[in-house]
Amino acid sequence: SHRIMLGPLVAAIDQGTSSTRFLVFNAKTAELLSHHQVEIKQSFPKEGWVEEDPKEILQSVFECMERTCEKLTQLNIDISNIKAIGVTNQRETTLVWDKETGEPLYNAIVWLDLRTQSTVERLINKTPGRNKNHLKHKTGLPISTYFSAVKLRWLMDNVDEVHEAVVSHRAMFGTVDSWLIWCLTGGKSGGVHCTDVTNASRTMLFNIHTLEWDPELCKYFGIPMEILPRVRSSSEIYGLMKICSSLKSGALSGIPISGCLGDQSAALVGQMCFQDGQAKNTYGTGCFLLRNTGAKPLMSDHGLLTTVAYKLGRDKPACYALEGSVAIAGAVVRWLQDNLGIIGSSEELEKLAASVGTSYGCYFVPAFSGLYAPYWEPSARGIICGLTQFTNKSHVAFAALEAVCFQTREILDAMNQDSGIPLTQLQVDGGMTSNRLLMQLQADILCIPVVKPSMPETTALGAAMAAGAAEGVSVWSLSPEDLSEVTSEKFEPQINPEESEFRYARWKKAVQKSMNWET
Ligand code: ADP
Repeated sequence: SHRIMLGPLVAAIDQGTSSTRFLVFNAKTAELLSHHQVEIKQSFPKEGWVEEDPKEILQSVFECMERTCEKLTQLNIDISNIKAIGVTNQRETTLVWDKETGEPLYNAIVWLDLRTQSTVERLINKTPGRNKNHLKHKTGLPISTYFSAVKLRWLMDNVDEVHEAVVSHRAMFGTVDSWLIWCLTGGKSGGVHCTDVTNASRTMLFNIHTLEWDPELCKYFGIPMEILPRVRSSSEIYGLMKICSSLKSGALSGIPISGCLGDQSAALVGQMCFQDGQAKNTYGTGCFLLRNTGAKPLMSDHGLLTTVAYKLGRDKPACYALEGSVAIAGAVVRWLQDNLGIIGSSEELEKLAASVGTSYGCYFVPAFSGLYAPYWEPSARGIICGLTQFTNKSHVAFAALEAVCFQTREILDAMNQDSGIPLTQLQVDGGMTSNRLLMQLQADILCIPVVKPSMPETTALGAAMAAGAAEGVSVWSLSPEDLSEVTSEKFEPQINPEESEFRYARWKKAVQKSMNWET
């Protein structure tokens, strides 16, 4: 059979909180040629704990690769056209493994996990003036359960295997990117232990100005620096794929892994937000609004994080972003499905909410893991309020969607205040954006247009672009002109701003209740 003649292709591994994907793009057109997705199990061993199995994560990557390669073969596309592979991943999620056996020493502690809350409170209480922003000048981050350092500390203090491996110099720490790259480049027989600046900037051990691990921060958290991966740029050849498989995906062996970006950074790149002031919001398990602030880190006065956006090449400058992170967005959909059982699938949510078209005065603050930006209040808990005899599950479903929009509004307000220049439209992506009602609600609540690209996989696209543009690969030029074909859908605000402000004010009252209901 005839092989289709295509230009170079670039692949991406997108390892998210709720699923793993492997995708193959045409580097000339950014067209998505083939992909496969596998769900990831999350376990909740105790209240507030969230874990995933590192081996399942790795297996899901292999499965996605295999199935995607099968699909490519069916399409008559030669796998050897793939010139590079990029990695993008859920950030902050923390792993430790043994470099001699290659075995993980505990489950991955997922970013949402709250087990370190008491440690975090103790650390904050010890700072002068009980200041959660004590380390912000170096890290851009508040001291919080969210970031990797406290999770790693917990593993060293509470898991004997981790402690022993650290003492005997066999331990390797990494976020999901490091774990995957190490495994895919040979694991215990010569795997490359590295991460990129964007992932490193979420650990709280990294100085975002010098772009190096910070010895003082490591000392502060009691982390031996030898267990840390080497920090590299987001676009360079880290190593070559080394997988021994007689399956179709065996053909991926020898391809360079040359892109690495935390998922939110990858989405910023995939959305082409390369200019100072450009922003995107990604609606996945959580919700993450990032605004490019150019070559200088801008420190927020309104509860936002300062983070490394990307560094696209060893000799290229780093670019920074202001970030507003919302812990619970799509996760509330899963909760409505798994815990309350009022929907059978995430797709059903839209129909249910649309059947009423209003929350009827019901407000739902899903502060399951405390509140992230702009409040950073770990002790907040979820509430549903404003219930009447009339309220039914459709109103609660609607309120859940609205909650995602209100949380985004709070972040956008903070960002506009920090930067002094209001955003005039919001670019969006992520799994939840397939919900059109949500997109319309978001435009209504922000009072600005919401723009969604028709190719929804922007996170993977960003990682593929970084991989394809790396020195020594150079099949992708990263210029927006190359993607001029990109089409999008625009949602315009439809309700009047007074109505929008009224609902937003009510939401803020509900948030206050979620923070203070215990006292
Ligand atoms: P992540 O990268 O965090 O794994 P994704 O971008 O894959 O997340 O998005 C998955 C999330 O989006 C899930 O939490 C799911 O509940 C939610 N989701 C998917 N489809 C819909 C939909 N039609 N309406 C509302 N939420 C949805």
